[in-house]
Amino acid sequence: LADEVFAKRKKFLGPSLFHYYQKPLNIVEGKMQYLFDESGRRYLDAFAGIVTVSCGHCHPEVLNAIMEQGKLLQHATTIYLHHAIADFAEALASKMPGNLKVVYFVNSGSEANELAMLMARLYTGNLGMISLRNSYHGGSSSTIGLTALNTWKYPIPEGEIHHVINPDPYRGVFGSDATRYAKEVQDHIDYGTSGNVAGFIAETIQGVGGAVELAPGYLKLVYDIIHKAGGVCIADEVQTGFGRTGSHYWGFETQGVIPDIVTMAKGIGNGLPLGAVVTTTEIASVMAQKIQFNTFGGNPVCSAGGLAVLQVLDKEKRQSHCDVVGSHLLERLKSLMHRHEIIGDVRGRGLMVGIELVTDRKEKIPAKAETAVLFEKLRELGVLVGKGGLHGNVFRIKPPMCFTKDDADFVVDALDYAISTL
Ligand code: PMP
Repeated sequence: LADEVFAKRKKFLGPSLFHYYQKPLNIVEGKMQYLFDESGRRYLDAFAGIVTVSCGHCHPEVLNAIMEQGKLLQHATTIYLHHAIADFAEALASKMPGNLKVVYFVNSGSEANELAMLMARLYTGNLGMISLRNSYHGGSSSTIGLTALNTWKYPIPEGEIHHVINPDPYRGVFGSDATRYAKEVQDHIDYGTSGNVAGFIAETIQGVGGAVELAPGYLKLVYDIIHKAGGVCIADEVQTGFGRTGSHYWGFETQGVIPDIVTMAKGIGNGLPLGAVVTTTEIASVMAQKIQFNTFGGNPVCSAGGLAVLQVLDKEKRQSHCDVVGSHLLERLKSLMHRHEIIGDVRGRGLMVGIELVTDRKEKIPAKAETAVLFEKLRELGVLVGKGGLHGNVFRIKPPMCFTKDDADFVVDALDYAISTL
């Protein structure tokens, strides 16, 4: 069956699609933190379909909300009134701090960041955008320019985008010194622009980049610089939102800032194609004279599902759960470092964890080949993790948020065994 699916995919789907594993995995079913292949073999899913399945695969309450809405009305668009989009917007706005109260629904993270960039430019009248190296903000024709990783092997189509050094405490040239990284932002503005910018966008923990947490205090300094240069600050919460970091509901809260615009997707839909932009009334007002339309944005089925996701995460206390399970996972992984030289760094927050593998701890040489072998071994042991970082040498553990301490132990024991038998 897997061979047939693979052959069909190769024949009918574009050649740019890549897949994990030498022998691709054919998934037929998902249940909470587990995935099942065609033979019925169960895998512990520690990557959640790229940090997307928040409540759990086919969570019964989310599924029920989707089905009940689907039976009544699947689609209407915003040219008519419908309660689902209004209820969902109200619930989402209630999760936001400060004046962030105006919601726009879209269908993906890329779309959310496109819209945020458009708003920043319209609101400020400036063009320049600043994003961080090692960031991922999308693959659409505008966001591909914000993304500063070699994931996309295309020429960058947009001008007026500046990629500044990311404040990476492990690999960064200035270590954890937020002040020096922030100065880089000021330098880019001074030397590379007219002195004014439209906006700055960053993930609080760089996801695709390999679970890189920004140096403490960085966003506070940079937000101040950006505001002085006439720009707005955008937090990309596509991976870090909804309590995944454990300590806070939103990633930006870990840096003690409130952005002007927040973008989100992935976990907000537990697998439904759903994204959102939330901003202030003042910034939203700039869009008032423009037509902003999105055929599927906030459609009844996605809105009903998204609302159920918010309710389930609250009801099941997933934020504090991520904190407890994530701390346990980090602690156990850090203790593995005593036994395995290959583990150069263990980092992250809550259930957003990165394990960076190196052949030399001092020189931090990426253990690319070893990572690839261990990745296959983990699959054989029944554990599906993600891979990331510029050199593909970081394991990403970002499971559905129902992941338990026992699941965390299973991942750590599998990794321990895999490295021991490398
Ligand atoms: N922002 C971040 C932080 C992401 O990780 C991603 C997807 N990996 C995106 C934006 C783009 O989301 P999408 O693939 O839904 O367009």
